[in-house]
Amino acid sequence: MTEFTAPKPVEPTVYDLSSPGRQGAYFPQPDIPLADLPEDLLRQDLPLPELAEIDVVRHFTRLSQLNHGVDTGFYPLGSCTMKFNPKINEVVARLPGFAQIHPLQPIETVQGALGLMYETQEWLKAISGYDAVSLQPAAGAHGELTGVLIIRAYHLARGDHKRVKMLIPDSAHGTNPASSAMSGLEIIEIPSDARGNVDLEALRAHCDDTLAGLMITNPNTLGLFDENLTEVCQLVHQAGGLVYGDGANLNALMGIARPADYGIDVMHFNLHKTFSTPHGGGGPGSGPVGVTAKLAPFLPGPIAAVVEEAAGEEPPLYGLVNPEQSIGRVKAFHGHFGVIVRAFTYMLMLGEEGLRAASEHAVLNANYLQARLRDAYHIPYDRICMHEFVMEGRWEDVPDVHALDISKRLMDFGFHPPTNYFPLIVHEALMIEPTETESKETLDAFVEALLQIAEEAHTQPEVLKTAPHNTPFGRLDEVKAARDLVLCCWLPESASA
Ligand SMILES: *Cc1c(COP(=O)(O)O)cnc(C)c1O
Repeated sequence: MTEFTAPKPVEPTVYDLSSPGRQGAYFPQPDIPLADLPEDLLRQDLPLPELAEIDVVRHFTRLSQLNHGVDTGFYPLGSCTMKFNPKINEVVARLPGFAQIHPLQPIETVQGALGLMYETQEWLKAISGYDAVSLQPAAGAHGELTGVLIIRAYHLARGDHKRVKMLIPDSAHGTNPASSAMSGLEIIEIPSDARGNVDLEALRAHCDDTLAGLMITNPNTLGLFDENLTEVCQLVHQAGGLVYGDGANLNALMGIARPADYGIDVMHFNLHKTFSTPHGGGGPGSGPVGVTAKLAPFLPGPIAAVVEEAAGEEPPLYGLVNPEQSIGRVKAFHGHFGVIVRAFTYMLMLGEEGLRAASEHAVLNANYLQARLRDAYHIPYDRICMHEFVMEGRWEDVPDVHALDISKRLMDFGFHPPTNYFPLIVHEALMIEPTETESKETLDAFVEALLQIAEEAHTQPEVLKTAPHNTPFGRLDEVKAARDLVLCCWLPESASA
């Protein structure tokens, strides 16, 4: 029998720890005369917690460790590429020359920052095969919206007003249909075939002169490289449409395959996934967009450019340009500059070979996990995967056990759960992405946990149904948590009343 540990009590707040008269901060005596403040503007009482410095430090340090993060444990959350973010990125992003400049400074005074933006664009172009890149978009979904607006602008600029349909495979990321809908396009879902590729027959049926384009996530959300991708792009192009590539899964491809080469016309990068910026708490991210030459005039600006070539010993002069038929700005100033600094640092640290090795190891790690779990879990599209794979979190002989129960139980072993219930085309989906930064020991420990869970599901399913047992909080009522938000539970009752 697995031993249960009782759920730990709810963490005390700073108010619970408060003791009258205890103090951790001391203010200097004012060196200006005290003024009389209007009585009616002053509070009679201000119930602040009273604690010594050590109590405050321990309280918040402990709280910071209750949350699972990449720095505390394995985080195989599919599609999110929760790789380790090297600390050197943070050091560089905090250098005063990057952190304390203003986007409206004269360009002569920010040449280093503009040069960094320019070089980042060049690296992204080399990795993807595109002719031009804009660093403006704030995140992946924002890059999608930008890309779809570019496709729309391209058709309209040619006077082609009929193209209103965007095709989206059912294995695409959920942000894809959202981005198309926000751009005012009509969405048509294309099913996957038995191997997890875009169904070519279904695609052909929609390839006509009302086609604006197709949005494809590749590798798709099943973690599979579409085996007919070149043909998919050809069909769309023959009908006069353009192909948008969701590049959030670029971690499988760096230095191995360039999306521009197989026919994708415009793609976003998730700098905060592939190029290592901490994310998951809602940002900030960065979603640059790359395009082929014919779409370059439509990119959002400003874009970093060399405005005066290097001469002799003199470095080039960098500036900012706006493409002629630009769809316009999509973000204030120059995008999320701090994330761009981190991405550039990461690229320089790894170099060309290191980036390729990162992708190779990401793919190897995912295939290793898939191979070791194949006998215990059903893998509906079972073939060599890319950087992630999707398995079912259910067994026919124990119909009461669900993917959610498996994920909750995984938390007892100190692992962040995989992505649950996505993609929608797999029943009880568990989408697992290990990334390249995990050791074989970590992957093995994760497999052992999942194998034990598969066994428990059959021998003592109540262990799964009541999990997690070892976390600071037990199983939460997620519906109530979403519907009945309590945003200031740290206030003492006296203050919130
Ligand atoms: C994460 C992700 C997105 C959205 O990116 P955000 O930066 O979260 O907006 C889009 N598509 C795929 C496949 C993703 O994994």
